[in-house]
Amino acid sequence: MTFLNGGYYMKLLEDRILKDGIVREGNVLKVDSFVNHQIDVDFIAELAKEFKRLYEGEEITKILTIEASGIGIACIVAQEFHVPVVFAKKNKTINIANDVYTSKVESFTHKRTYDIIVSKDFLKPEDKVLIIDDFLAMGSALQGLISLIRDAGATIVGAGIIIEKAYQQGGDMIRNMGVRVESLARIKSMDNNTVQFIN
Ligand code: 5GP
Repeated sequence: MTFLNGGYYMKLLEDRILKDGIVREGNVLKVDSFVNHQIDVDFIAELAKEFKRLYEGEEITKILTIEASGIGIACIVAQEFHVPVVFAKKNKTINIANDVYTSKVESFTHKRTYDIIVSKDFLKPEDKVLIIDDFLAMGSALQGLISLIRDAGATIVGAGIIIEKAYQQGGDMIRNMGVRVESLARIKSMDNNTVQFIN
């Protein structure tokens, strides 16, 4: 298999964000036409090849993501790695069973805190886990997922993010925890519908 170099996929994604992304109030980038509501499967499959290239040579036994918007993307990426996808569920009940790992996530887009859970059946100490998510902003979602993996005694291989809003603290915070983070597009600034990237 031949891989195109990383710059190709970065450009592909940046061009698509510029064409179809919409900057909303409150620092939210809407990419509903290809990631978050309608999913452009062929396009995400292209991006998945870049995650495969970036994590080539690493042993990965599972992909972990968070419901809801991470699931579709993670499944497409998993087809490159041929491993199962586990998604952390957002728990609506107060009672947390003891057969799950649990952690808290603060939602940047919804401005609320919720528990996330994953069954102990699906994260084991021998697992080597790649986290996949659509966005990285303040890092709370990623931190919650990292905490689940650590509680399970599993190994964190790294994270693959489609869009990192690099002007928010999440990326630095997670990298400072010693976790490898690979983002396919890194946004430097976003205002008046102008999106600028870090290249
Ligand atoms: P964090 O926990 O890093 O603050 O935010 C990550 C999560 O919030 C992602 O899973 C994503 O669902 C959502 N999110 C954060 N910023 C944005 C944004 O600008 N646009 C969209 N569509 N989702 C975002």
